[in-house]
Amino acid sequence: MSIFQNLSTIKHTIPKGVTLVAVSKTKPVSDIQEAYDAGQRVFGENKIQEMVAKYDELPKDISWHMIGHLQSNKVKYMALFVDLIHGVDSFTTLIEINKQAKKHNRVINCLLQLKIAQEDSKFGLTKEEINNILSSYDYKNMENIKVVGLMGMASFVEDEQQIKNEFATLKTFYDELKVHHTQFNTISMGMSGDYELAIEQGSNMVRVGSAIFGNRNYHQ
Ligand SMILES: *Cc1c(COP(=O)(O)O)cnc(C)c1O
Repeated sequence: MSIFQNLSTIKHTIPKGVTLVAVSKTKPVSDIQEAYDAGQRVFGENKIQEMVAKYDELPKDISWHMIGHLQSNKVKYMALFVDLIHGVDSFTTLIEINKQAKKHNRVINCLLQLKIAQEDSKFGLTKEEINNILSSYDYKNMENIKVVGLMGMASFVEDEQQIKNEFATLKTFYDELKVHHTQFNTISMGMSGDYELAIEQGSNMVRVGSAIFGNRNYHQ
């Protein structure tokens, strides 16, 4: 199946109000251009330098999302153009994003990553850490970032019930926070293997890679 066909199949399964982030990490610019020509405008990358290189080459009306774990010292390279940073999992990173955004006179939208998976390998904050960040004086005084919601990754398991429960945990916490943080509008959950389940559980942003672009080969 072509990228064009994959995209159109997936778009038919995604309701209005759910944003599709096409995860193009490891894939060449030509693949992104093909998706772009099919109308896709939102793309996700997980390495800052790779995203910057692609940004340089591709049309400027693309909305670039950083979905990977962040290294603070590289935030400066994307501060000019990144539209949404999904995986913020420390206060230090938030401080750095604010600082770099200020240099460009921008406000950068961010999502805090809640750890919902059982696996140790997944990054993320606890609910308590998220509450502490959002209620802190330092956070309230950051003028160049806007936390617009939460992101989470479910465990990589076969057990659908477990995945469902993890997504439900994220949605419940998101709804709780939204009461006091009225700027919240984004809950990013769901990937190629579980995005339909995530949408059922209330996701409004899915990050889909291999189902659009095919499997990734990390050894190329
Ligand atoms: C790679 C990645 C995705 C997309 O994964 P697929 O299974 O290929 O859809 C989504 N979210 C994050 C954070 C990723 O790193």
